[in-house]
Amino acid sequence: MSLTTGFEHIVRENEPLAAHTSLKLGGVAQYFAEPTTRDELIALVKRCAEDQVPVRLLGGGSNLLVRSEGVQGCVIHLSAPEFCQISVDGNSLTAGGGAKLSHFIATAAREGFSGPEQLVGIPGTVGGALHNNTGYHGVDFGGWVRSATVLTRDGQIATRDSDSLSFSYRQSSLTELAILEGRFEFETEPANSLTKRMQKLWIVRRAAQPDADENSAYMFRDHGGESASKLISDAGLAGESVGPVHVSDRDPNFFVAESGATSEQVLELMKKVRQQVADRLEIELQDAIQVW
Ligand SMILES: Cc1cc2nc3c(=O)[nH]c(=O)nc-3n(C[C@H](O)[C@H](O)[C@H](O)COP(=O)(O)OP(=O)(O)OC[C@H]3O[C@@H](n4cnc5c(N)ncnc54)[C@H](O)[C@@H]3O)c2cc1C
Repeated sequence: MSLTTGFEHIVRENEPLAAHTSLKLGGVAQYFAEPTTRDELIALVKRCAEDQVPVRLLGGGSNLLVRSEGVQGCVIHLSAPEFCQISVDGNSLTAGGGAKLSHFIATAAREGFSGPEQLVGIPGTVGGALHNNTGYHGVDFGGWVRSATVLTRDGQIATRDSDSLSFSYRQSSLTELAILEGRFEFETEPANSLTKRMQKLWIVRRAAQPDADENSAYMFRDHGGESASKLISDAGLAGESVGPVHVSDRDPNFFVAESGATSEQVLELMKKVRQQVADRLEIELQDAIQVW
């Protein structure tokens, strides 16, 4: 029996993943599922476990490089409205794991919740930001979390409260299969001042970094308090390229994949940058991007 049997309405075979990532590269997913309810998601995950089909979670694809050979197993995308809701109660905000980070940030600013406006311009989803503890200039997503609802690999729903959660630089203890929802609390500030600050930060960011629409990705982790951008620049690698993939002139910790680029060229440029930073600065850069 194929994995699609009984799930024809939510599972597709051989789905190209390039369109689901910011680099716009890579092969197909053997199975690609967009469940519409929690019950469908649970049933699918249980079937995958029974059939020993590996499962991965895709958010906004802004921190992923998919190899040209694609991905075996099932890639789950929480794109249905059930997983993308955002609601507000007092100074608490609840957001689905599939909700866009931009929607989360705009809602927080409108409600007078301070902090998230600092992350304006970062692409992806709430689930991806919780999984990666996404942040910018010392402001980390995990700092506002009060609880998270997750789905385990054997198909059980669990709620983790803040005592059982930990966040550090670009990582969190939320390593279960799927982050379904997060509840957050914030300090408050007048919405108009948050909106003005957010607009200014957005302009600054757009001038300083490429946009996700430019087929770009953020590549390496900072090292010992030094930004990866500075290290790559200090190693003289701004503008370095492999074929149509190049280190961004605006921020060297971003690679931009021009038309005709392949995932292997991105991997080759990553290797070149890692090697030259090691040779010139004696520092081992660690990847921020995940390779599937
Ligand atoms: C232009 C640009 C600017 C960026 N700027 C920054 C920045 O300033 N700071 C920063 O930290 N990052 C930055 N990033 C990286 C990226 O945007 C963030 O890491 C983002 O939070 C990833 O979210 P995503 O939904 O796209 O995750 P994806 O790339 O889809 O997935 C990343 C990981 O999270 C997991 N995941 C995703 N959703 C879920 C879920 N619901 N449940 C469980 N696991 C899940 C995936 O399995 C994968 O392991 C930038 C990227 C780009 C392209």
